[in-house]
Amino acid sequence: MNQPVESHRSPVAEVIPIEHETSERVVRTMVVGIPVAALALGGWMAWGGTLHWQDLVVLAITYTLTGLGITVGYHRLFTHRSFKTSRTLRALLAVLGSMAVEGPVIEWVATHRKHHRFSDHSGDPHSPHLEDAPGWRGALRGLVHAHVGWMFRGKDMANPARYAKDLISDRDLRAISRTFPLWVLVGLAVPFGLGVALTGSLVGGLTGLLWGGAVRVLFLHHVTFSINSLCHFFGRRPFSTGDQSRNLAWLAPLAFGEAWHNNHHAFPTSARHGLDSWQIDPGGWFIAALERCHLASDVIRISPARRAQMGRNA
Ligand SMILES: [Zn+2]
Ligand SMILES: [Zn+2]
Repeated sequence: MNQPVESHRSPVAEVIPIEHETSERVVRTMVVGIPVAALALGGWMAWGGTLHWQDLVVLAITYTLTGLGITVGYHRLFTHRSFKTSRTLRALLAVLGSMAVEGPVIEWVATHRKHHRFSDHSGDPHSPHLEDAPGWRGALRGLVHAHVGWMFRGKDMANPARYAKDLISDRDLRAISRTFPLWVLVGLAVPFGLGVALTGSLVGGLTGLLWGGAVRVLFLHHVTFSINSLCHFFGRRPFSTGDQSRNLAWLAPLAFGEAWHNNHHAFPTSARHGLDSWQIDPGGWFIAALERCHLASDVIRISPARRAQMGRNA
């Protein structure tokens, strides 16, 4: 979605400075780094035979819940308003998304809307194509920047007053955004509780916390980060969107359908990212299930006529 850049006309600033820049960097380093250490610990324990099926069940449940919180809640509902739902379900999806530890919902939405506004052009918070270095070195630097580097390099963040005014005026979302650390803790308490419930032991709770907490955060982080990096670099581009967004089929099941990213840039408000029936899109299926249970309405679908109107790459 490349809209003309009109920032000079806007009375509201595009970006605002990050408060407490140094402590913010320390927190981000811990949030990205601790799960890597946890995976090393989990891998070492699994090698020693202490990985149990209960740990994998806890991992699958928490990965699915928080993954849907991100793609269905943060992305398709709050960023792109691709369907409508009740106040309770909006709050639940915002909480599940917060448990993914990708930042407060209002901040996430502001950044992502700015990404759509400037997609792969100056102003895009995380494009892999804005590096100066030539050849493979520039490509690698671009990918690293789009994957994680942008979170550490920036001094500014997309201004929510500019990009997420609708969410700021929602009392529930404001409260959930403000209490983000609480939901992160809930996201760790849930796998601990599930581990205890499934094994009847405290040790089961701790290994549940390791796999369904830290390792789950790691997996979902890098799947989400890959949408920003890999899905603007590798894969097919059926629609000519004016940016470098791509469909990366193998990543779609793990990313709940997010990896049909060229489709998504072509039709950002579509509730489905997998536009063809064979394109695996669990996030889209989940919204369709909500609709069938009368829990979602005004679900945005892209008609064949609209698809045909969209320019295609040869
Ligand atoms: Zn994109
Ligand atoms: Zn989007």
